[in-house]
Amino acid sequence: MMFEYAPAPESTSIVTISPQQGLFINGEFVASERNFESINPATEAVLSLVAEADEAAVDAAVKAARVAYTKVWSRMSGSERAKYLFRIARIIQERARELAVLESLDNGKPIRESRDVDIPLVAAHFFYYAGWADKLEYAGLGTEPKALGVVGQVIPWNFPLLMLAWKIAPALAAGNTVVLKPAETTSLTALMFAEICQQAELPPGVVNIITGAGETGRLLVEHPDVNKVAFTGSTAVGRSIQRALAGSGKGLSLELGGKAANIVFEDAALDQAVEGIVNGIFFNQGQVCCAGSRLLVQESVAEEVIHALKRRLGTLRLGDPLDKNTDIGAINSRVQLERITELAAVGDAEGAERWTADCALPEAGFWFAPTIFTNVTQAHRIAREEIFGPVLSVLTFRTPEEALEKANNTPYGLSAGIWSEKGSRILWMANRLRAGVVWANTFNRFDPASPFGGYKESGFGREGGVHGLAPYLQGHAKGVSA
Ligand code: NAD
Repeated sequence: MMFEYAPAPESTSIVTISPQQGLFINGEFVASERNFESINPATEAVLSLVAEADEAAVDAAVKAARVAYTKVWSRMSGSERAKYLFRIARIIQERARELAVLESLDNGKPIRESRDVDIPLVAAHFFYYAGWADKLEYAGLGTEPKALGVVGQVIPWNFPLLMLAWKIAPALAAGNTVVLKPAETTSLTALMFAEICQQAELPPGVVNIITGAGETGRLLVEHPDVNKVAFTGSTAVGRSIQRALAGSGKGLSLELGGKAANIVFEDAALDQAVEGIVNGIFFNQGQVCCAGSRLLVQESVAEEVIHALKRRLGTLRLGDPLDKNTDIGAINSRVQLERITELAAVGDAEGAERWTADCALPEAGFWFAPTIFTNVTQAHRIAREEIFGPVLSVLTFRTPEEALEKANNTPYGLSAGIWSEKGSRILWMANRLRAGVVWANTFNRFDPASPFGGYKESGFGREGGVHGLAPYLQGHAKGVSA
């Protein structure tokens, strides 16, 4: 029996979006001569005009962060810094609904995800790192931990506010001041966070938010008075930043792409595994660096799993991100939709078999129906390259050794998943998988106390947990010297 759902849209009346955004420098919003549009990817309607930071604005933001570091933040005790972080965390909780609606409007992700996953994790990160601010000497990172100074941070568009929290919370807890640049398609929640900093009476200059595209990001990371750079985004840009910073002595952490294997053994609880596969690749429309985009399924159960998966995908609801029943929202931008479409076409051309969930796509906006490719081999580009969309490539294996060999056969190494009833098999696999995070009988679970990061072309440095403090403290940040 199919259920008919009545629309259940979340009201947008809670959010007031100013038609023109400013840059947040030294505790104030300042205008820029150049501006660009931020649009709602589900409707293509313009949400606001966002300021573009030029060289002078980037310089002003770094100067404000330097003065705040020297005169205020570095002189403040850890317990005082903690008070600000706790205050920010509490305001995020108070304004959670507003932030969730704005995130879904600007990014296209379902409100169910922004409301139940993104924003609660954002608050949790600030609470977690607030707890560390006055206990740094007990973090196992030396008896007199010292901040680095001014940190330049650049983040992507897939989890706009969550990536901001992953960057700003540990940096401030460790005693640094920051200049952060959000992605050009998703600046609005970062600017609302700037308002929250004002509301929390955070001293001016401790957090600066500058908006703009790649050039603004380049100006920030290459600014000579930035002590450390933290970047999340594509491997190509990560590489160019590492090259540009070589020899500068600046600290650098990179969180880049992934092509995670989600490995299902024949002894797994298959219904549970199917839910995990769906969550692994269709959460946030697959625009997740640690997405389980390669399903490795044991040959003996492959047919059964693929059949169950298709049946489950047929029940997913695609459409208005603000509808509380929606499972699959909009793709973040036209450019990203074009990339997904192009790589999926490569899958067809290389002989893989495409199956697409039967769902109507809205007329306006950027949409891609959940898609599975079977008959995929390791040589196929869709098995090797990050698609960053709701597209799953399915490969099969016969033995654990073969599964391991296929899972590790990738230039990336961010995450992996194992589905099995056998604890010994899970441990055997987990010890041998070259991936920063390995989930067992679950996928895409995050906790601020747990470190996250990659091997190989997925980057270096860890975010989250006590490990996430290290890149922001002297003697522990990886310097770019060669
Ligand atoms: P991107 O790397 O181009 O952009 C990420 C951020 O870096 C944005 O804020 C962007 O403005 C900024 N940027 C771009 N060029 C820069 C430069 N030269 N110097 C400094 N900052 C710069 O990523 P994208 O175009 O948004 O997405 C491309 C691909 O990146 C995706 O298809 C996906 O494969 C990957 N991606 C990975 C993640 C992740 O979380 N690991 C997130 C988003 C995208």
